[in-house]
Amino acid sequence: MHQSELFSKASREAPSDEVSVNAKLLSRAGFIDKLMAGAYSYLPLGLRVLKNIENIIRTEMNELGGQEVLLPSLQPKENWEATGRWKDPGREVMFQLKGRGDREYGLGWTHEEIVTPLAKKFISSYKDLPRAVYQIQTKFRDEPRAKSGLLRGREFIMKDLYSFHTDEQDLIKFYDKARVAYSRIFKSVGLNALQVEASGGAFSKYSHEFQVVTPAGEDIVIRCEVCDFAQNREISEVEGGGACPRCGKKVTAERAIEVGNIFQLKDRFSQAFRLTYKDETGKDHPVLMGCYGIGLTRVLGAVVEVHHDEHGIIWPEAVAPFQAHLIALQNVKSVRAGTDKAYGTLQKEGIEVLYDDRLESSAGEKLTDADLIGIPLRLVVSEKTIAAQSIEVKARAEKNTELIKFQDLGKYFKTRKKIYVE
Ligand code: ATP
Ligand code: MG
Repeated sequence: MHQSELFSKASREAPSDEVSVNAKLLSRAGFIDKLMAGAYSYLPLGLRVLKNIENIIRTEMNELGGQEVLLPSLQPKENWEATGRWKDPGREVMFQLKGRGDREYGLGWTHEEIVTPLAKKFISSYKDLPRAVYQIQTKFRDEPRAKSGLLRGREFIMKDLYSFHTDEQDLIKFYDKARVAYSRIFKSVGLNALQVEASGGAFSKYSHEFQVVTPAGEDIVIRCEVCDFAQNREISEVEGGGACPRCGKKVTAERAIEVGNIFQLKDRFSQAFRLTYKDETGKDHPVLMGCYGIGLTRVLGAVVEVHHDEHGIIWPEAVAPFQAHLIALQNVKSVRAGTDKAYGTLQKEGIEVLYDDRLESSAGEKLTDADLIGIPLRLVVSEKTIAAQSIEVKARAEKNTELIKFQDLGKYFKTRKKIYVE
């Protein structure tokens, strides 16, 4: 991709009304644009990152046995009345609206009320279980405070998976597999997510949240300095500085971002919609359910909160919008020709490259923008490197540079070790 043709442009200044680091950096670097509080446009660079996150999640959900579906966001009031959630918490979080003939609708903020009656159409026997379906889709929530950029949207993208089981043992088996899949997902996107016990609602003792410790977080996690005890402060009986209820050592209280949440719903929704199955003897039982959410756009924001410095974003390789940022440093013929050639080589190798071919920008501007955009590898061609028949390579996460001969460029990408940003 030629940067001179890119739809967005980097800018010096962040929008004055943005307070969060993720929104400031992503806006300045041209990944997102704010329409209003809690609603953002994803520009070509931002959408590339979002798609990378999406693919990592989709692969793991398929591996887990999930089948992808896409359910409506526009939902009739009746489904929500069946569970009592039209009034509470519906009136708090749901965008509720009237259509023709005064018919009432809500915009989906979660999908139990849609997926449970849907499953009832296909699940009737123990032979139809277990099943798991998931979707990656826009959710709407009328959040009271939408000031944290992508971390709290009023419109945001979520992956939600719902599982259906004959008994508790089968539900727990799947739930534990989902926990492992979630850990892999967060590790892959460059997030160190703790598994934290949280409120199980009316359904079970605990749910599990995946929490990324960072000052930008809106939650507080109480965790043990020694053992793996970790709880959301909302439910914890111990405060930071207190003694761990599991091992007696000290616990700390830290801010964290909840990037995922998994719940055992048991029969909460199957009772409401009478989703049952017949066992081998023909006797009816409620189907037991689990639900498993990840906020993709919140994950994107969390990655930026964790991986940045004073100059800009530092993308982990697995989610980066491009693998390499190739820069023609000066607007002179030899440099342009050398960079064009390198671009051809990289394309032949299948490397995704953003090529800064802008004629009107200064060398300083190009380097500043590259740091802001945060692509993992920067490749600079200048009059100096041309003289050495080389290209200068620098990892965004590291300080040192190295010179690679033009003829070794393809080989360099074949043999190079991936850079993991911690
Ligand atoms: P929170 O406690 O942060 O309000 P929640 O517990 O209501 O979130 P869930 O209903 O469990 O969230 O949603 C599943 C996942 O969706 C969350 O773990 C989070 O990653 C994401 N998510 C929830 N609300 C938002 C939001 N307003 N903006 C972006 N992502 C969100
Ligand atoms: Mg939560």
